Amino acid sequence: MSVTLTRARYIKDGQYDPTPVRLPGSAWEAHTVPYDPQIHKDHLHCMSCSASLYYHSGSVFRGGSSSLRGASEHFSLKPGQRHSITCKMPNPEDDGDRTEYDQSRGFRFHLNIPDARNAFNKGAAYAVEKGGKLNPRQAILHLNETGDSFRSLTPKSMESVQDFIDAMQKEDRGRLNDSYVIVGHRVMRFKDFIIRLGFPRHGYENSRFGRLQEKLASHRGQKTYHGEPRIVEIHVDKPKEADFFEDKFSVKGRAIFLSKRGRDEKKFILPYIHVDSLYDGALQNLFSKAGTYSVMGMVRETKLDNGSIAWNMSVNDSRQVSTHAPSDIFKARWG
Ligand SMILES: [Zn+2]
Repeated sequence: MSVTLTRARYIKDGQYDPTPVRLPGSAWEAHTVPYDPQIHKDHLHCMSCSASLYYHSGSVFRGGSSSLRGASEHFSLKPGQRHSITCKMPNPEDDGDRTEYDQSRGFRFHLNIPDARNAFNKGAAYAVEKGGKLNPRQAILHLNETGDSFRSLTPKSMESVQDFIDAMQKEDRGRLNDSYVIVGHRVMRFKDFIIRLGFPRHGYENSRFGRLQEKLASHRGQKTYHGEPRIVEIHVDKPKEADFFEDKFSVKGRAIFLSKRGRDEKKFILPYIHVDSLYDGALQNLFSKAGTYSVMGMVRETKLDNGSIAWNMSVNDSRQVSTHAPSDIFKARWG
């Protein structure tokens, strides 16, 4: 199948602009900019990997026949460029039934919220390593997967936290356990991407939280580290009252007991959701009820004076929030 690219991202001198570049002939669309050769030429890349693209203006009517339309404008891979193995876009030679996915295996969930401002761009989704290159292959090798076995996973584009919730609700457990989530250059197991309550293991009452906290703490103080992309289950006891004069507000989640079993120290994770509703008014009402929320974003931690830990997550797009709780789905489906 041949896929026409209608979006590109602009990277120059290692600096990544999160605003997607759209085709100049396309209709106006919020949070995008039209292609401008003066600015973008030679600096365009695929939205989901580091492959270089160029703008193709399309061809006009050919052969004098009005029934023979030329190609319409699009972005194309530069000669010799290929989409990376973690990219959701197929390469031109992966045509037709040459691409076979193993239905007995899991999924590659590609997180793709191109215009979620700042939510994932800083050091995360489209992180640019030195020299403006992404290196997803390294991340895959880190998981001890060969490129081929990774390629047999069925790719799916995920555009909201709800897409992940839906997958948990309908997909086979064995396939989900064999699935990966790709957020820019990061590759992680699906089950590690979802931080849900309960699940006592490794000495923790809430082992998913405990294990992630160990990881976050190991990077403490590193200036270039901006946290880990995750979906976190957060219980909100005090809902937020809509205040349309205030774009930014914070919602405090219920403290999560972190202490290892059999120890006296009482440590907690205190989750905070920092909402900026400037570009997405729907966020004003999203936290208006007490209950459990799934929040997708970068998790950053700070150690508090009393030994407990604050987790901070920024939300500026309602697709980052769902009122469904992963632990409820797990209980309902698999006990
Ligand atoms: Zn790509």
